Amino acid sequence: MRIEAVRGDITEQDVDAIVNAANSSLMGGGGVDGAIHRAAGPQLLEECMELRRTDLPDGLPVGQAVPTAGYALRAPWVIHTVGPNRHRGETDPALLAACFTSSLDVADAVGARTVAFPAVSAGVYGWDPAEVARVAVDAVRGWTGDVELVRFVLFDDAVLAAFTRAL
Ligand code: ADP
Repeated sequence: MRIEAVRGDITEQDVDAIVNAANSSLMGGGGVDGAIHRAAGPQLLEECMELRRTDLPDGLPVGQAVPTAGYALRAPWVIHTVGPNRHRGETDPALLAACFTSSLDVADAVGARTVAFPAVSAGVYGWDPAEVARVAVDAVRGWTGDVELVRFVLFDDAVLAAFTRAL
């Protein structure tokens, strides 16, 4: 598997699946979640609402992942995962690692071969970007499956530098 880190906007990535740092409600939010919903269009929220009505009445648990279509995005899939929130005392790195491995499991299940990740939990959820980078890189390196490319897409230079160091 090739693993790379680039600076950029995840909504513009030409990959099979982009991962969303969602919240457990799946109803959208700020940061990368808001950007993905804006770029994908209103059908994304409709599919998320349908998931809540059916499979996920209590929301998506921290560390788990679920796929939807990408709608207006170039990526045909969005994989929603919920990072641990430091401000709620969720400080276990295993929970953060699970976001990356469960997203890759979902990617594998839908047949995605190229996957872009943001720095899950490094924004509003309060994790140190350097720790996110270490956990993410270790988790991806330790995962086995058919995904061929993992691209970490980081929004600013400091977070890109953290991922570049971790790699
Ligand atoms: P969380 O709630 O999991 O912390 P955030 O969306 O607040 O998620 O932040 C996660 C990371 O995503 C932050 O480093 C933030 O700068 C970054 N980010 C925000 N918008 C984008 C985007 N369009 N593409 C890639 N990364 C983004």
